[in-house]
Amino acid sequence: MKLRSNAHCHTVYCDGKNTPEEMILAAIERDFVSLGFSIHGWTPYEPTPVTLEREADYRAELRRLREKYRGQIEILIGAEREFLYERDYSAYEYLIDSAHFLLRDGECLYIDWSQERTADNVERHFGGDYYAYCRAYFEQEAELCAKSSAAFIGHIDLVSKFNEGNKYFDESDPRYLGPALEAVETAVRRGLPIEMNTGAISRGYRTTPYPNPTLLKRIRELNGEIIINSDAHAAKHLDVGFDLCVELARACGFDHVLRLRASGFEEVGLED
Ligand SMILES: [Zn+2]
Ligand SMILES: [Zn+2]
Repeated sequence: MKLRSNAHCHTVYCDGKNTPEEMILAAIERDFVSLGFSIHGWTPYEPTPVTLEREADYRAELRRLREKYRGQIEILIGAEREFLYERDYSAYEYLIDSAHFLLRDGECLYIDWSQERTADNVERHFGGDYYAYCRAYFEQEAELCAKSSAAFIGHIDLVSKFNEGNKYFDESDPRYLGPALEAVETAVRRGLPIEMNTGAISRGYRTTPYPNPTLLKRIRELNGEIIINSDAHAAKHLDVGFDLCVELARACGFDHVLRLRASGFEEVGLED
């Protein structure tokens, strides 16, 4: 089966490489039924090119493109909301709740910037203890999930981005899994779908999507829902790793995943 949909992608309006129209044309070429855009909303933590004015331009451009391509593909106007900063997102049709920062000792630490920056953060703020770092991350993630009103949770185990092959910590260690499962369970209890995200595959950091199979199996056991997204920052990456996600989801016991349409979520069977 082909998903033919993606609800998490970025454009030149934030840190993506392509224009919204280039993304839409790539999606139409792949026979997508829907494409959701999720700009990184403005935050005060790091200087970013995104301003509130730029967000307004982004929404206007997507409204224009939605009309231009009506009948060919559904366009959804969303944002990836940064957990640590509360502000008004009511102009958006749907939200992804994600955390890219960890608040520690009054500092905002980047979680997914680079291996070097992460190693430095773990050294300076956690005495080099990656398990303590991951615990702090998942405690924050559980807090996010406990109050989230988003459509779904983005890359719930982003903290493992640089950990391919268990390079820095063992993802089957209870010191990692305990807090990770707690975050996942909090999300499912709140009725929040959890994203399978292939962004780190297209960027060359990982060969598997978030979340790891142990977490996926737990989501399944709890009757939670998943949605497969590429988090593409370029048009060529729109559906990277989707076949692998379908295979993994099936192996973890799922018989369907969610897909975001203009009318809301719909279930897509994984049987064939
Ligand atoms: Zn993200
Ligand atoms: Zn993203």
